[in-house]
This record gives sequence, structure tokens and C-alpha cells, in this order.
Amino acid sequence: MNLKDTIRTIPDFPKKGIMFRDVTTLMTNRRAFSEAVIQLSAPYREILIDNVIGIEARGFIFGAAVAYELDAGFVPVRKKGKLPFDTYEQDYELEYGTDTLEMHADAVRGQEKIILVDDLIATGGTAEAAIRVLKKAGAEVMGAAFVVELPELGGRERIEALGVPVRSLVEFDGH
Ligand code: AMP
Repeated sequence: MNLKDTIRTIPDFPKKGIMFRDVTTLMTNRRAFSEAVIQLSAPYREILIDNVIGIEARGFIFGAAVAYELDAGFVPVRKKGKLPFDTYEQDYELEYGTDTLEMHADAVRGQEKIILVDDLIATGGTAEAAIRVLKKAGAEVMGAAFVVELPELGGRERIEALGVPVRSLVEFDGH
């Protein structure tokens, strides 16, 4: 099964020059969705992961399915202001301005084994912010897994420099 062929590309969304890699077409294909979740989970089966961290919003879809596969819990990392209890937070740079990610302060404990899941890694800025939130909570991040990687944007190097190994299922050239 070629997962790459199930991902739709929308040129100039959400703005000119961006090739938007639309994973909703992978998700509606039952074989592709199942295959993606199995491949995302496979490297971590032997490690006994305690919690899978999913980044809002598409990271929730893949992350929750991976958590179910691995018999792990699921923790949402959300945009600022959505979580009701005490949080750890981390600002990160966007192309224009900054944004903030948050996680509930009691969601993970120091000794737990954690992996991070999102749909796509581009510059790695979003994943780095999530890893920094997890470090504030004292958690050990065993790996970060993405359906799509845009290697030219250097996200892998950025995340591996934080000591977190990166895995991805398919790569696309360009932005
Ligand atoms: P980054 O922080 O640069 O690694 O960007 C990753 C986040 O932005 C992910 O949560 C993606 O959903 C989204 N994203 C960035 N670039 C694209 C793209 N070309 N197509 C689809 N989503 C993207």
C-alpha cells in the first residue's frame, strides 16, 4: 500500500506558495488509515509506552489511534486557552508572530515513557514547543512520529538536536 498516493496536495492553501499536504484523504481510506497507525506504532511496541502525546488538531486523530494500538494513555497538547486545569505552556514562533501550546500539569509523571505524534513535521517548531512543554513536566520523550515529513525544512535535525529520535512514514519535497 502506497500511503503517499493517498495524501492529497492542495496548492496555495492556506496561502500562496504553500503546498498543503491534506491527510484527510488518507484518513477516509480505511486501509491507508489502518496502515498508517500500524506503521506509526510499530517502532514503540517493545518499549511499553505510558502515554502518547498528540498535538492539536490532526495529531489528536493519529495520536489517539496510536495510543489505542500501544495500550497507552493519550494526552492532548492544545493551543492556549482550551485546557480547563493548571497547565505548563511554551511559546513558539510562527511565520508571523507567536503561538502557545499547553498541556495539563498533571497529565504526565517524570518516570513515564512518552512519544509525540503529529500529522506532519515541517520546520519542527510545533514539535519542539511540545517537547519543551513535556520537559517542563519532567517527562522523558522516547520519540516523535509523523505521517508526513518535509525534509527540506529541517524539522528532523531540530528535534533530534533535542535528543528525540524522529520517524516519519512519507516525505514530500519542498514546502
Ligand atoms: P512546523 O511547526 O513548521 O513543523 O509545522 C507543523 C505543523 O503545521 C503541523 O501541525 C502541520 O499540521 C502544519 N503544517 C505545516 N506545513 C504544512 C503543509 N505543507 N501541509 C499541511 N500541514 C502543514
